[in-house]
Amino acid sequence: MAGYKRILLKVSGEALAGGASFGIDAERVKDLAREVSDVAASGIQIGVVVGGGNIFRGVAAAAQKMDRVTADHMGMLATVINSLALQSALEQRGVTTRVQSAISMQAVCEPYIRRRALRHLEKRRLVIFAAGTGNPFFTTDTAAALRASEMGCDALLKATKVDGVYDADPYRVPDATRFDRLDYREVLARDLRVMDASAIALARENDIPILVFSIFESGGFARVVRGEGRYTIIDGKG
Ligand code: UDP
Repeated sequence: MAGYKRILLKVSGEALAGGASFGIDAERVKDLAREVSDVAASGIQIGVVVGGGNIFRGVAAAAQKMDRVTADHMGMLATVINSLALQSALEQRGVTTRVQSAISMQAVCEPYIRRRALRHLEKRRLVIFAAGTGNPFFTTDTAAALRASEMGCDALLKATKVDGVYDADPYRVPDATRFDRLDYREVLARDLRVMDASAIALARENDIPILVFSIFESGGFARVVRGEGRYTIIDGKG
């Protein structure tokens, strides 16, 4: 038993997209909501940061000559769309959920207010943090490390397509080496690209372990939270 009281889950937009890697697949969102609600039912306080890559990615749009800041604003709005989709699916499973956006959107969701978010978590309401950090030139990975730090989370769980961190993309390099445990410094020094450097640095500074696991494995999230199953842990003890 890992004994977590409060955790932050980071899911990429891709996890909501199903096979097509684009848009929102209702079945995928339902699967994700089931995974999350199983953990919520165990009494652990959960914050979630959802990405937006399934709808819009600022860097890619900027590469096609779009103004980067505008593109990033669009990317952040994409994360709000995903957050609302996840909220809807979670509430259908009976999980009381609040969406707080770093970009104010009063008619749609709450603004991000740290103390209010903490209160929601204490009252066992799941909080989805939308619109990333609210700033361009950042990613939702960094937003996840930031919110995990602000909320005093015991761990940051990074949901991916694979069961941990590898030294190369295991889909392309069949004999890629998988790590059970890594030190923050090693992730940065070896440029392992599991999360961006600013997210790793922030987690390190605030001593928050990062657990990398597959969200595509049924029951995987609950097992990782219990300290079971397959994941890579990144902390200062690697
Ligand atoms: N974004 C941003 N600031 C943030 C978080 C996100 O500008 O603090 C924008 C950025 O354009 C990014 C997009 O939102 O490409 C979607 O987020 P991300 O790429 O992190 O999503 P994921 O890869 O997790 O689906």
